[in-house]
Amino acid sequence: MNRRSVVIAQYNMIGSSLKINLSDFFSGQDQKDFQINGNLADFDDEIKVKNPVKVELKLNRADDKILAAGKMKAEVISLCSRCGKKFSKKKEFDFDSVFSKNPDPESDEWKVDEAGNIDLTDLLIQEIIVNMPVKNLCNSKCKGAKNGAA
Ligand SMILES: [Zn+2]
Repeated sequence: MNRRSVVIAQYNMIGSSLKINLSDFFSGQDQKDFQINGNLADFDDEIKVKNPVKVELKLNRADDKILAAGKMKAEVISLCSRCGKKFSKKKEFDFDSVFSKNPDPESDEWKVDEAGNIDLTDLLIQEIIVNMPVKNLCNSKCKGAKNGAA
């Protein structure tokens, strides 16, 4: 466990990664806003994100949990589900999340590690995937590929 916290501390480069340190909240802080620009790693064959992504977080403590109201701005590159072409679109993702050192396993709370750090990477990737439209069109008037080839 100690070894793991050392590794996390080394990578706690706030500003370039998507990690934030919340230890102030566990020693009494009630409210804090974060703005982070960070890089998201590749997570999907078809959906890519142009780095860096911008994240704004408004955090409020509620007992031993931290409530986050977040907004991510990202340019998402994906494939049109009608013509199959790659296209890029600027998107905003609003999300509400709960961070906890002891997440309720029945809930979708995100785990804060022993050192008070949370890595937003998985959370942000999940937001992108969940919010991708079922019909993801390069253009609302897209007619699709003429010969049907994608
Ligand atoms: Zn299209």
